[in-house]
Amino acid sequence: MRFILGLTGGIGSGKSAASQWFESQNIVVVDADIVAREIVELGQPALAQIHQTFGDWVLLENGELNRRALREHIFQNPTARKTLENITHPAIRASIIQQLQNAQSAYVILVSPLLFETNQYQLAQHTLLIDASEELQIQRASQRDEQNIEQIEKIISAQMPRQEKQKLANDVVLNDGQLEHLYEKLQPLHEKYLAMAQQYSS
Ligand code: ADP
Repeated sequence: MRFILGLTGGIGSGKSAASQWFESQNIVVVDADIVAREIVELGQPALAQIHQTFGDWVLLENGELNRRALREHIFQNPTARKTLENITHPAIRASIIQQLQNAQSAYVILVSPLLFETNQYQLAQHTLLIDASEELQIQRASQRDEQNIEQIEKIISAQMPRQEKQKLANDVVLNDGQLEHLYEKLQPLHEKYLAMAQQYSS
């Protein structure tokens, strides 16, 4: 069995920055957001199922998923959202499990913005929250994505409040300084996870 660390945090909290640091320490990171896009790529069974369920309008002329049309459709229609999730969630979960199993590193990280909101946390032996104030989240995410502040606030309010995530996570890193400070806080945790992983596999 492998030791899996679940890494989460709200939008703009610094999940990707933390993930990149762990990757620089030769730890494989499986990103749930990337997996969610992969499973609806051309030729994937989940895309065929979505096409069959929703109809031709859900595809672009080149056969790829029309994300914008689908997003607008489910935004107005909770039943359609549920139908879509019933197709995508099992496919995402199966692919995450496979990638976690295939990974070759001392331990493996599953990074997901919705680790605690979904059952993904159950895949992890231990969890780490990258935490930041809402002001910092908005400032960083708006600089990164050129999204307007209103959109980012909407995403934040749809995610689990940080106080609740703080209670659920095994470790919490407050990312309120420079990136160097974040890395300095991650170093001792990485050493702890290496030791935990060794115990876990022995
Ligand atoms: P998330 O993946 O949680 O949405 P990111 O890691 O992408 O967040 O961080 C959001 C943006 O803020 C990125 O452009 C990132 O480089 C930047 N950032 C993250 N942490 C810091 C920090 N401590 N100091 C300065 N910029 C940061």
